[in-house]
Amino acid sequence: MKLQFQNTYSQLPSAFYSPCRPTSVAHPTLLLFNDPLAEEFGFLPSTESEKADFFSGNKLSQEMEPISLAYAGHQFGHFVPSLGDGRAILLGEILNSKNQRFDLQLKGSGRTPFSRGGDGRAALGPMIREYIVSEAMHALGISSTRSLALVSTGEPVARESLLPGAIFTRVAASHLRVGTFEYFACRDDYKSLKILAEYAMNRHYPEAFEHKNPYVAFLRGVMDRQTTTIVDWMSKGFIHGVMNTDNFSISGETIDYGPCAFMDEFSSGKVFSSIDRNGRYAYNQQPAIGLWNYLMLCKSLAFLVSRDFTKSQNIISQLDSEFSEMIEAKLKAKMALKIGFSSPEGQDVTLVNSLLEVMEQNSLDFTLTFTYLQAQLAGENFALEREFVENEPLNLWMASWRSRLKDLPLTKEQILKVMSQENPRIIPRNHRIAEAIEAATQQDDLSLAKNLLTALLSPYDSCELALMEPPKLEQRVQKTFCGT
Ligand code: AMP
Ligand code: MG
Repeated sequence: MKLQFQNTYSQLPSAFYSPCRPTSVAHPTLLLFNDPLAEEFGFLPSTESEKADFFSGNKLSQEMEPISLAYAGHQFGHFVPSLGDGRAILLGEILNSKNQRFDLQLKGSGRTPFSRGGDGRAALGPMIREYIVSEAMHALGISSTRSLALVSTGEPVARESLLPGAIFTRVAASHLRVGTFEYFACRDDYKSLKILAEYAMNRHYPEAFEHKNPYVAFLRGVMDRQTTTIVDWMSKGFIHGVMNTDNFSISGETIDYGPCAFMDEFSSGKVFSSIDRNGRYAYNQQPAIGLWNYLMLCKSLAFLVSRDFTKSQNIISQLDSEFSEMIEAKLKAKMALKIGFSSPEGQDVTLVNSLLEVMEQNSLDFTLTFTYLQAQLAGENFALEREFVENEPLNLWMASWRSRLKDLPLTKEQILKVMSQENPRIIPRNHRIAEAIEAATQQDDLSLAKNLLTALLSPYDSCELALMEPPKLEQRVQKTFCGT
């Protein structure tokens, strides 16, 4: 298999990473492969067994410079000065047809110098979840790392029980995290911090160099992308689940899918993650945690923002306010689009909030409520309308919504177009992912995962009703696990 690597991270000083090779596995078997993504990077066609060898790390090419990256992180608010890639190895960087640079990383490829007590391995179940959800996010239009390949190792991994092992290949704009900056900041390594900030700007925010204070421009760029991503999550009912600073990307991509989940019925404080006992990363906490993480990034760069301590603190406090205002404004605008308002006024924002209240009080499905509203406006039948038609509070709300829509200088078709671009018909529902994982891990059957994935790649189109449906009582998944 021929691949062009052009590595830059491995040219950085040695404190940034540790050279490290994947540990070979017994029987690599290719389970899933993303052909369209592979084509973007000019991967030459190859056999399944060549792909299995390559994406298990059993066979490396000459141009790869495998490394594990150093980073720190605040985990549930507690600072850990040294985390790093404990079970991931960056093989190198590849360019797509537009000359954009991406990292190619193996996850679950064996121990690294950052593994601490861990085995460096990944279980198949969580890797299927990451594969499916990353691609679904991308198709929904949410900035995300991508899934290129999934290989089973033929070796068990020991968690609470023995589970089938897997290696997941991830493509990311980079693996620079808020925690990468914290790693050097906590060591008072200002020289490395400056190198890192300039590397990040070159790679993701080159326009920052044009500004009088490039570091402030860089922080504003990060603010813009991170606020957009969080708002995009919220507009689709997504809960990341582990918004630790080491899981927060500088490029703004959603990264490190652990116990993430999409909500079925709307509940503003919803938590799925089994390890998030206090709801720190609940659905409605995500903007506040995004701000908290951003503040950690700003603090790490304080000395670059200005050598004058007071001035630097003032600029950072200004950036924090801007972050809060930006995320609030973006969230209002994004949610308003879901009910057809492209230039929302105060009363439209109130209308969104009152809809969310109705949804929460009546435990309505987050995704299907909007599909139903759209069908109602279009005058179309909607096969899953049962839970909505006789809902009095929703009917009342719809009457005020319809009357407000009449004030808009827009045709029904224009309003429906706005709504249809924001409201997916299918999301990766927990019970469907659980079912796909069970079939793959218990019966070596990947057909459910593949079928689900295919439907999720066109989330705004009609699809099989069964995949759109919320779970029945006995299918409900209330807890998700990170599987580390
Ligand atoms: P995560 O919860 O996946 O974001 O991981 C948090 C930290 O734990 C990172 O430094 C990971 O590299 C490390 N880690 C997670 N699972 C393992 C494992 N099985 N072996 C070694 N390190 C791990
Ligand atoms: Mg992580």
